[in-house]
Amino acid sequence: MAFLIFVIGLLFGSFYLVLGTRLPKKENVVFSRSHCDSCNHPLKWYNLIPLLSYLFQRGKCSYCHEKISILNFVMELATGILFLVGYLMYGLSYDFYMYLIVISLMLIIFISDFLYMIILDSPLVVSSILVILLKGIYLGVPSALLSILHGIILFLIMYFIQYLGTKLFKKESLGGGDVKLSLVMGLILNLNLGLVSLILSTFLALPYSIASLYLTKNHEVPYGPFLAGALTIVYIFSPKFMALLDFIFSI
Ligand SMILES: [Zn+2]
Repeated sequence: MAFLIFVIGLLFGSFYLVLGTRLPKKENVVFSRSHCDSCNHPLKWYNLIPLLSYLFQRGKCSYCHEKISILNFVMELATGILFLVGYLMYGLSYDFYMYLIVISLMLIIFISDFLYMIILDSPLVVSSILVILLKGIYLGVPSALLSILHGIILFLIMYFIQYLGTKLFKKESLGGGDVKLSLVMGLILNLNLGLVSLILSTFLALPYSIASLYLTKNHEVPYGPFLAGALTIVYIFSPKFMALLDFIFSI
């Protein structure tokens, strides 16, 4: 079972890379056939085996011999390992399915926001629907409806921060995608842990922003990966963060 989960993770990893790299370029990912990015040659099934195709083709397209991005290999392996680790942590349970949604969202946002500075709507919409369904099935409809309320409140808080930032700095401080992502974070974590993850994301983004400012003089830093990273960390360690909140409010 663990091996099967790992293989499914590899397949999803290559799908997420396609989503994260092709959707920002407005390419159709569902109905178009897989093709080489350099020569556009359609790929056969044996060119699409996760990890192995890349290794056997020595990282090159078998038709035009142009280099294939190492990102393919890294993304497949990372997703496979994350799926496997989740299965070993949770087994086949509600927590595991929610974990899969969380890390899938994180991986797609990592690709699209770091490469193209965009958070796509479709992964946000799909993951919102899946979260609501999952909560409805496992925790009951009232709990699912309540988490929608939590999502909306977190969205409004982020929207207010964005509004304030734009007023203060006279330019767009947070992207619209970041604000929409906070809705999904509220859906998954509810309000208290959602707020914790917003705070954590600023701490994660700070070293990167400073480094990028000094090394590349770049003021435009994608914020989505840090939000998604904070979501993942807070989700995995949610009992610890809940205990921390209880402690703070008991003082
Ligand atoms: Zn090619």
